[in-house]
Amino acid sequence: MDVIELAKETEICRLCKNVVIGKGNENADIMFVGEAPGRNEDEQGLPFVGAAGKNLDGLLEKVGLSLDDVYVANILKCRPPENRDPMPEEIRAHTPWLLKQIQDIKPKVVCSLGNYATKFFLALGDVDKMKEMPGITSVHGKVRTIEISGLKIKLIPLFHPAAIIYKRSLADDWEKDMGIVKGEISQKKLI
Ligand code: URA
Repeated sequence: MDVIELAKETEICRLCKNVVIGKGNENADIMFVGEAPGRNEDEQGLPFVGAAGKNLDGLLEKVGLSLDDVYVANILKCRPPENRDPMPEEIRAHTPWLLKQIQDIKPKVVCSLGNYATKFFLALGDVDKMKEMPGITSVHGKVRTIEISGLKIKLIPLFHPAAIIYKRSLADDWEKDMGIVKGEISQKKLI
């Protein structure tokens, strides 16, 4: 079964209105990975178009970036009903598609947004190990090179834009962390 069919076998893919694959520049050096589509994303078939998305747009603008400079996707490609947390078997079924996207886009840096995406990458794709991984508060802005399904990536975890809506002070951390991201993509020798 290919990676798309595998994700589409899950119940959330039968329940959602649209499968949300990604948006932005497919040749970008920076890729952002969020958690899962919400109501607006499900309606429009695009990631980060609701309140969190508007915040992400503003945060990008603040550091001189736009959708032309980045690619945006999620761990899950379909909205979990009532925006409940992703379930381990859903993460297992949907992330091969995400990893294929990373393989195709070949970003220099992957920024995981919030806890789910960060724990997935820190656990090197082992969904059972995700719960043992540190939370975003202790790892945001820390650069590490990881190897996941034969793929070497520079991972930089960031606070989720939705969390920043509720706690504005996190916007300063986000801006600082994005300085680190920009520093990484401007380095000549990567990984
Ligand atoms: N939150 C996410 O993690 N992803 C989206 O696409 C929207 C909100």
